[in-house]
Amino acid sequence: MSDSQPSLARALVTARRVAVMTGAGISAESGVPTFRDADGLWEGRRPEEVATPEAFAADPVMVWEFYDARRANLARCRPNAGHRALARLESIVPELTLVTQNVDGLHQLAGSTGVHELHGNIWRLRCERECGVDREDRRVPLPRPLPPPCPCGARLRPGVVWFGEPLPPAPFAAAERAARRAELFLVVGTSGVVEPAASLARIAHSAGARVVEINPRETALSSVAHDRLRETAATALPRLVEPGDPSP
Ligand code: NAD
Repeated sequence: MSDSQPSLARALVTARRVAVMTGAGISAESGVPTFRDADGLWEGRRPEEVATPEAFAADPVMVWEFYDARRANLARCRPNAGHRALARLESIVPELTLVTQNVDGLHQLAGSTGVHELHGNIWRLRCERECGVDREDRRVPLPRPLPPPCPCGARLRPGVVWFGEPLPPAPFAAAERAARRAELFLVVGTSGVVEPAASLARIAHSAGARVVEINPRETALSSVAHDRLRETAATALPRLVEPGDPSP
């Protein structure tokens, strides 16, 4: 732990308003592959082959087989000490806003509430024609035949944001508001290259927040961070949230 960490830990647990943005890196220690660390591949596939509206229109069965396999892998993953520390932080900081780019639902499994999911959630299924059906379904594998039918007669699609699609407005608006108000802004396990999510750290920086990056590697957001903790999320977060507790 560097000399600055005890005072950072104090600043964190005494702050009134904290915003946290997480990316794929926070789930790495739960066994979920990140996007960048796998050479830009997901389960061996190029994202544009499987994670675009065009791919779904061209071959919905292939896209659903891919997501069904990702869901099966995620079903075996459990939250790690990083997710759990952020869940505990909710009971310490009066106004904590947790924003994630992840679709895995591990923050909620760790006990976090009111998570703002910028890229949706892989455990949700929604109508491709937006008839209003948008439901959780944790069955693995999903019943065949795929794609799952929507009661309205259309098809259900994975409840995630694909490349080329806009972010859901409500979570992003909440995230932006929190970034403007935060005294401390934690950026955890994100490479900071996916916009507009990456802009949140810059917004927080311009609005006067102390920006803290937790990432073993330098990223596109390192230059706006006041504190750069070159540690993994499961090591750094428990230390910051419970400075007296040496176990991760
Ligand atoms: P990314 O894959 O681009 O970057 C991951 C970052 O995490 C890297 O900077 C890496 O150095 C860091 N990292 C790796 N291990 C870490 C650890 N143990 N602790 C802390 N940091 C660690 O991820 P991104 O920036 O989130 O962007 C990729 C996009 O892919 C996002 O849109 C996200 O929705 C999606 N994605 C989601 C998941 C998931 O839901 N778990 C997994 C892969 C990709």
